Amino acid sequence: MSAPRRAVVALAFFAACVVDIGRGPSAQTPANTPAGRPLLITVDDLPVAGTAASGDAAARRATTEALLAALKKHRIPAVAFVIADRVKTPDDEAILQRWLDDGHEIGSHSNTHPSYTALTTEAYLADVAAARTTLSSWLKLRQRTLRLYRFPFLQEGDTPEKVEAMRTALAAGGMRNVPVTLDGSDYSFDRRWAGAVASGDAAAIDEVRQDYLATHRVAVTRTEAMADRLLGRRTPQVLLIHANAVGAANWDAMFTWLEARGHRFATADEVLADETFRDLPVDPGRWGYGHYQRLARLREAAEARAAIAEVLQTQVAAWNRGDLETFCSVYAADATYVSPNGNTHGRDAILARYRTRYPDAAARGTLSFSIEESRLASGLEITPFDGAVPGGVHGGSVLARWTLTYTGKPAATGLTLLTVRPRPGAAEGQPRWEIVQDASF
Ligand SMILES: [Zn+2]
Repeated sequence: MSAPRRAVVALAFFAACVVDIGRGPSAQTPANTPAGRPLLITVDDLPVAGTAASGDAAARRATTEALLAALKKHRIPAVAFVIADRVKTPDDEAILQRWLDDGHEIGSHSNTHPSYTALTTEAYLADVAAARTTLSSWLKLRQRTLRLYRFPFLQEGDTPEKVEAMRTALAAGGMRNVPVTLDGSDYSFDRRWAGAVASGDAAAIDEVRQDYLATHRVAVTRTEAMADRLLGRRTPQVLLIHANAVGAANWDAMFTWLEARGHRFATADEVLADETFRDLPVDPGRWGYGHYQRLARLREAAEARAAIAEVLQTQVAAWNRGDLETFCSVYAADATYVSPNGNTHGRDAILARYRTRYPDAAARGTLSFSIEESRLASGLEITPFDGAVPGGVHGGSVLARWTLTYTGKPAATGLTLLTVRPRPGAAEGQPRWEIVQDASF
């Protein structure tokens, strides 16, 4: 190789990548805000969801009345998201009317409940526009406005262009995306519930009930603890549940537990005014997932980029003070150094190579180093139900330009491609990541 890569790590690059997600305690909470954690209840897939959707008009109405009774008992102002194309009959319209009559807000949940990941932007926007036309005019007749949208499957777009296209379309239509923070996958219990009820087996019914409630308890307690740690304050929450039969029979028990846990059922206006929901991060992905999980993942990515920068800074500083041992300490013990002249295996061999080629300050010169691109690799986490979400960052790569300047002779420059990963058991004060492969030329 001609010269080592090095120095002046482009910190601005990293700074630009860091999403501001932890802004500390909220200063906006007025002193007279009631006690309790604000919780917005959102109900998806109206008119009715799951097994109840195939019932006759009377059964659909009965499910609706049971859902509304539970909301009323707990004085909950919910947002109910309608799949517009599933409102087919006057009975369906009567169901929506009942939600309005009880003081709930109707939002759009698209026309046909498509996957944004599976559709082109044009096709998806057309579906959203169709729902908006139908629901807006229906609401206008009742002196209401359509202003809230819920993405089917929580899929907000798998490319930056798709994410931005929907943001633009929602804003132009006067609508706002309502993210989800709490999700107990309630839909996954609905078929079991219907089967148990049909069998008349009291023990089977109770088993599904207990599973449903326990899953929501776990989802709520785990997510809230994570979110509170992440933001450093008591975080507002948005629960996603569906207008289904298992909910009709079990919402009362769940709402009772939520109240006992210190939740306060709040309006969409109050919850969505919280700063955490003000500027939602652009985070393209195939899968939909919760707001705080998304923030946690973005923070992890920002920390990974900072750790990678730290590796390069360590090398730069060491090189420029002539400390080749520290310079090579950020290579993994089994690292491979790739150059046009051949490969070198192992940290010790890499150090020996540098010592031979750069014996003194005149040979080493002064390093500068700028990152042209860095990418992170994440795994996938499979949820207990049927979904998948991005998992933790487990590695990455960096493409950078190195430059060596000398007094009295021309500078040398070239490119390097590094594969990097978290260093297991990194000592305090040592770089937390290490170089696994280094191809420089
Ligand atoms: Zn849905």
